[in-house]
Amino acid sequence: MNRRSNGLDETMDMRKVCTMRIAMTQVTTLMTSGAIALASGSLPAQSVPAAFGPDNPFYAPSTLPFHAPPFDKIKDADYLPAIEAGIEHQLEETRAIADNPAKPTFENTIVAMEKTGQLYSRVMAAFSGVTGANTNPVLQDVRSKVAPKRAAMSDAIYLNDKLFERVSKVYEERDSLHLDPESLRLVEEDYKRFVRAGARLSEADKATLKKMNEEIANLSNAFSTKLLAATKEAAFATTDKAALAGLSDAQLGAAAQAAKDRKAEGWVLALQNTTQQPTLQSLSNRATRQALFQDSWNRAERGGENDTRATIARLAQLRAQKAKLLGYPSYAAWNLEDQMARTPEAALKFMDALVPAATAKANGEAKDIQALIDAQQGGFALEPWDWNFFAEQVRKAKYDLDESETRPYFELDNVLHNGVFYAAEKLYGITFKRRMDIPVYNPDVQVYEVFEADGKPLALWYCDYFKRDNKNGGAWMSNFVEQSKLMGTLPVIYNVGNFAKPAAGEPALISFSDVITMFHEFGHALHGMFADSEYPSLSGTSVPRDFVEFPSQFNEHWASYPEVFNHYAKHYKTGEPMPAELVAKIKKAKTFNQGYAFTELLAAAELDMQWHTLGADAPLQDPDTFETAALKKTGLQLSTVPPRYRSSYFSHIWSTGYAAGYYAYLWCEMLDDDAFQWFEDHGGLTRANGDRFRRMVLSRGNTEDLKKMYAAWMGGEPQIGPMLKERGLEPEGTK
Ligand SMILES: [Zn+2]
Repeated sequence: MNRRSNGLDETMDMRKVCTMRIAMTQVTTLMTSGAIALASGSLPAQSVPAAFGPDNPFYAPSTLPFHAPPFDKIKDADYLPAIEAGIEHQLEETRAIADNPAKPTFENTIVAMEKTGQLYSRVMAAFSGVTGANTNPVLQDVRSKVAPKRAAMSDAIYLNDKLFERVSKVYEERDSLHLDPESLRLVEEDYKRFVRAGARLSEADKATLKKMNEEIANLSNAFSTKLLAATKEAAFATTDKAALAGLSDAQLGAAAQAAKDRKAEGWVLALQNTTQQPTLQSLSNRATRQALFQDSWNRAERGGENDTRATIARLAQLRAQKAKLLGYPSYAAWNLEDQMARTPEAALKFMDALVPAATAKANGEAKDIQALIDAQQGGFALEPWDWNFFAEQVRKAKYDLDESETRPYFELDNVLHNGVFYAAEKLYGITFKRRMDIPVYNPDVQVYEVFEADGKPLALWYCDYFKRDNKNGGAWMSNFVEQSKLMGTLPVIYNVGNFAKPAAGEPALISFSDVITMFHEFGHALHGMFADSEYPSLSGTSVPRDFVEFPSQFNEHWASYPEVFNHYAKHYKTGEPMPAELVAKIKKAKTFNQGYAFTELLAAAELDMQWHTLGADAPLQDPDTFETAALKKTGLQLSTVPPRYRSSYFSHIWSTGYAAGYYAYLWCEMLDDDAFQWFEDHGGLTRANGDRFRRMVLSRGNTEDLKKMYAAWMGGEPQIGPMLKERGLEPEGTK
């Protein structure tokens, strides 16, 4: 089953919402579908559209090393016919599996589906890579043209009763088939995917489900449209320059430009999607801060056509009803079934345990800020619109890290070779060699071949680090080729970033947060490179959302690990190590304002889970009443720390695929800090530790239950203690 069959637009949205998110794997567990086996890469002539023939570079598998995409031969015009042919063949081959008159077996059904989709996979891998990192109007046009066809393809596969019957048959007989554990996992995952999509429902219920899905999609769309307009409308506007005291010239210029763009007089502060607004840390006029904050907080609750409250209330209700139809007590129960946490109860228990430490720290920070207000004779009580303004003063006084001082120690190539690669070599014994002969889609892209300690080739890895106008924001990882023993393929992986490109001949001096981004994306890359699965759909980063950020965030830890840090953080001109005082500042800055930051995230995650544990029979909710009650119930109703997103503008959960999934960010953080603690307790950066982690976690993809996988490696359940320590949030008395 091909992981690239998920909706591309959904994928793009996922990228936007999490800037450090891998590109392709997130929604596949729900959308995966069979594809077409093209024996030896040739196509049956009768079904090939006229425009698609042997002269198309996607027609046959790439003959380059590791089957890397032949970017030197691919033209923009090649994508559309190749994708269309890929879709047609995928459908045709799926039908052939479904209509097979032979008795269903593991081989002729489950493995057959797994082998399908090679054409589709290779064209979509390249297409997704270039549309994300090097797009143009032609490619964007192709994207919108194929989107509905891709969605229809997924439906056609899951609504194929005959196919489901065969999958069910194999599933029922699985215990007598003497399958190896990975094959057994594949049968179970495939079967669950069909069931979760509604394959077991009666025809009448299927029709109901389809209607519900349509209404959900429409409401989701309506929410996005309303929120976009509401956010634009709610921007803070003024013609009084004094109201904007504290803003820099650059910020004022941007505000004047924003007004001009709207054909308005004066200045406009456009709203960001979060509750807090970046300019709130600079605005010295308290009335302006309050007005801007309230514009943000109430943006989608102003009555009229762009008020989202009725839309989200109905969405929550419909999702609960859909879950009930599919046999689950709540939407969260349905959505978490294939996640590491498994149940909403587990996710809630995890979050509840974090609340005391987070809120205690936030309350302490609030006290410090109030003291500062009082010392300045402010004469008022701290409100949420004051927080960032005063926190910024604390940051400047106590934690200020001047990036121009640190950048000379973070030259990009040096960070890559003596930091990112160095840590990977120490832990896993792998080595890297630049390859100049592999074609790339843009001259900024570099390609490395990765070797095992014994010299055997392991993977190809591309990096495309510099910002370009035709590149999406943020950073991400994905595959051009998936690892699979069944298909005989080794992984071809890429990392994309958005670091400022230096002038020709100048070194790229990056910030420490860019350094962290490099380690993060490389952590995803390692998860992909070490993949050692038989089946492509269980390989590498094809894991649930509440696990996928674990290897990447885990790898971030090595950026600050002294042995690694000292090896790369050297002045680009003199080679001198970074002065201890600067290193200490970087370390200290990590825990600044963490009570606030953690509490606002936790509040948003709790809101998400409360909305999605509603039962199908619950009445339509009033969002404001519901939200207040939910925050109170979870101990997160802090007057000065509002949730990072209010329900009415929480687009992650209403329109971009994170419904009942926002907790995953925090969950993965628990895993990565817990795992790093294990390394520290067992000698840190050693080959023995790295090899064990690789063998028991990084190479395993989704080939076994993730909770069991983690417990086997760790020797127990993940703990929240290391996470609280890392954020500087240990409960009182443990410091
Ligand atoms: Zn990530």
